[in-house]
Amino acid sequence: MNRQDFPILNEQVYGKKLIYLDNAATTQKPQQVIDAIVEAYSHCNANIHRGVHHLSQIATLRHEEARNHVAQFIGAKSSKEIIFTKGTTDSLNMLAFSLGEAIVNAGDEIIVSALEHHSNIVPWQMLCERKQAILKVIPLTQNLELDINAYKTLLSSRTKLVSVAHVSNVLGIINPIKEIIKLAHEQNIPVCIDGAQSVPHLPVNVQELDCDFLVCSAHKMYGPTGIGVLYGKEEWLEKLPPAQGGGEMIDHVRWQGTTYNQLPYKFEAGTPNYIGSYVFGEALHYIEKIGRDVIAKEEKELCEYAEQQLLQVKGVKVYASGLQKAGAISFNVFQTNGQLIHPFDIGTLLDRQGVAVRTGHHCAEPLIDLLGIPGTIRISFALYNTREEVDIFIAALRKAVMMLS
Ligand code: PLP
Repeated sequence: MNRQDFPILNEQVYGKKLIYLDNAATTQKPQQVIDAIVEAYSHCNANIHRGVHHLSQIATLRHEEARNHVAQFIGAKSSKEIIFTKGTTDSLNMLAFSLGEAIVNAGDEIIVSALEHHSNIVPWQMLCERKQAILKVIPLTQNLELDINAYKTLLSSRTKLVSVAHVSNVLGIINPIKEIIKLAHEQNIPVCIDGAQSVPHLPVNVQELDCDFLVCSAHKMYGPTGIGVLYGKEEWLEKLPPAQGGGEMIDHVRWQGTTYNQLPYKFEAGTPNYIGSYVFGEALHYIEKIGRDVIAKEEKELCEYAEQQLLQVKGVKVYASGLQKAGAISFNVFQTNGQLIHPFDIGTLLDRQGVAVRTGHHCAEPLIDLLGIPGTIRISFALYNTREEVDIFIAALRKAVMMLS
């Protein structure tokens, strides 16, 4: 779908056609997005919010239009609830600091799950260390699904936040976040959703989900690097202190003390990435032009096709096989004697055939440890991937396995 919009897909790797299956790490950019970067720096570059001059006003308008666009894209009630950050990692660190300062004390608990990305583990570990709080982990069932019964037993009056991924960046599986949110809310516990791998693939609506916070990154959605979102319900953001101090986030600064700006600026210290926000808006226009439902449907079909094809390769084990996935599949290949072929070796031989996949722990070491393996091979899709590419990948995989067996 729309492959011609992505110039990088015409690249050759080692003389072979590039097959890019590393979209969970970052997506490629359509020409519209690439052009928007050049256009913005060429015609509309001025620091925002501070200038009375024309360029500054236009740049400000574009930044705020992008904020409105993001709000509408994820179904937020108001653009005040959209904080621009550097990306998912930055959003989670900001939230961990800010929420930690506001409501977490010694003995309190934060809940994450066993399949989280390091970005949704380490900031909470750091907070727990700072505040002598306790990090609790939702275990997985044999099927590698979140164990909801165990989750229920973890929730208590000591729980200050639940933070879970909507879609696992390793397994690609879609977690039952509606249920997770509902169960937490029954005990007045707020929930943060790591949407880094779901917002690019599924129509996500924060009001429908009723999550309290949601984080995502533009670069995984055909947009630029260095910009992302921290969504928070207005009532929560009003309650939380700023995570960083500096220009823009203040109302007045006196030696006696500082008063803070209104939402969302209270959380945006310093010159924001206003070119990034504008270009992110262009990426959203691009996605909307194609249609989020269309993208979700095509990617689901492609994922199912790829899993079926993978399972026909001798020795392949797909993790969380048979579960519904959004955009990513992890697997390994075992020899007839049961020995695992190291994922790195397969990844290297695939690369030599022009196929870009990711191998290793995918920034989710606790999950990989739990699986008792050194890592996986992960293929991940975007709107431009095709069945033909899957077929080429499968042929390349067969060849790699033959060479390594
Ligand atoms: N959370 C998940 C589920 C991810 O997949 C990723 C990136 O792969 C992140 C968080 C971190 O995103 P970023 O590196 O854009 O901050």
